Amino acid sequence: MSSRTHGPNILLTGTPGTGKTTLGTELGPQRTGLNYINIGDVAKEEELYDGYDAEYHCPVLDEDRVIDELEEAISNGGNVVDYHSCEFFPERWFDIVFVLRTDNSVLYKRLEERGYTGKKLSDNIECEIFQTLLDEARESYKPEIVHELQSSTPDQMEENLENIANWIDQWKASHP
Ligand code: ADP
Ligand code: MN
Repeated sequence: MSSRTHGPNILLTGTPGTGKTTLGTELGPQRTGLNYINIGDVAKEEELYDGYDAEYHCPVLDEDRVIDELEEAISNGGNVVDYHSCEFFPERWFDIVFVLRTDNSVLYKRLEERGYTGKKLSDNIECEIFQTLLDEARESYKPEIVHELQSSTPDQMEENLENIANWIDQWKASHP
């Protein structure tokens, strides 16, 4: 097990639009002292891509290079990682995994507002209906470290923030 000098590593995953970036940003350095890492942004900045997906009109993530890029920072601990997939990360990276969930009608509106239409919109709604990311997380990590979080309302967002911040405090207290 790698040394978690800077605290625990937390993964925030879930269907696009469920609130990972909002939650992760709020959990960032100010509130918890943890470093926030948005995998999509890192890939963009460092151009960690391997080809282009013609169906979804987006570049394909070069997963191996993403892992190489982040390995050192993650092994020191103290990170909140945000991505809409989780199976390719090394299992040892994360101490806890949160899967954000949103009611279908709420998610539909959020993705429409983001400009999603047609197949991209319906595929993402289907992904949420079939709890694809929850199953992926449970298959990729020990089920006991995988937690589902409801993220349909601002109250739930606030509750999730408080619960995760408390979990971080407890983790730090038990890993002096
Ligand atoms: P993701 O990073 O998972 O794609 P975002 O954090 O970008 O999702 O959130 C998508 C949109 O939904 C944003 O406009 C955000 O403000 C809103 N949102 C996310 N979670 C909630 C919530 N629990 N309650 C209300 N609005 C939310
Ligand atoms: Mn996001």
